[in-house]
Amino acid sequence: MSPIIRFSEANKFFGPLQVLNDIELTVHRGEVVVICGPSGSGKSTMLRCINALETIQAGTVWVDGMTLGGGGRAMTRLRAEVGMVFQHFNLYPHMTVCQNITLAPMLVRKNSQDEALARARELLAKVGMPEKENAYPAQLSGGQQQRVAIARALAMEPKIMLFDEPTSALDPEMIQEVLDVMVGLAREGMTMVVVTHEMGFARKVADRIIFMADGRVVEEAKPEAFFSAPKDPRARQFLGKIL
Ligand code: ADP
Ligand code: MG
Repeated sequence: MSPIIRFSEANKFFGPLQVLNDIELTVHRGEVVVICGPSGSGKSTMLRCINALETIQAGTVWVDGMTLGGGGRAMTRLRAEVGMVFQHFNLYPHMTVCQNITLAPMLVRKNSQDEALARARELLAKVGMPEKENAYPAQLSGGQQQRVAIARALAMEPKIMLFDEPTSALDPEMIQEVLDVMVGLAREGMTMVVVTHEMGFARKVADRIIFMADGRVVEEAKPEAFFSAPKDPRARQFLGKIL
């Protein structure tokens, strides 16, 4: 197994507040890692360090051969290689579904409009929305918007996909359609780091669960072990609340 993401003694502060505390984490190619833990434990911050939306103050974050923090061309390559899906879809509201998906491939990857459009259609079929290319985000349900957001991230042909609570803003009946797309991606071998409290998803596709508390990775285990016998008392308490 070859590593594609590695945190080593990574520390991050917001002013006086330490939000990541000596993080050690390696993710291998093709792995699906689920991160869970209480609110405020540093999950989003850790995820955001992987695509350099945040930078650390000490230690290293390494992604696919690049040590982050250098800026310049490495950053451009990094952003193209790492796709991210947020809790609140963040689609461009004034653009159609198709325009949302084709924008970055045309601007950043310099794909032709025809190429970008053909790829957008394939991706819309993949996320189960072939008939929505000309719709505007406001005309779609939350679940549909999130599936478009996934298609948009995939359009850049990323090597890694990051998901930050992708279903927590959705009405319950729309959660599964988004998780189904994510399960499909996992089965295709995409490297995925997913912050979620959807433990059904975690059981089904996660290779590993990372439990965070107070800016630290306090437990790291296979799903079976984590769910049947979490070792850390905070993990036990957390699972007691959400399961
Ligand atoms: P989680 O995703 O696990 O809920 P976060 O990574 O969002 O946790 O936040 C970790 C801690 O860092 C929290 O205490 C949060 O309030 C703080 N924090 C997050 N982003 C910022 C920021 N931009 N400025 C200051 N503090 C922040
Ligand atoms: Mg968060």
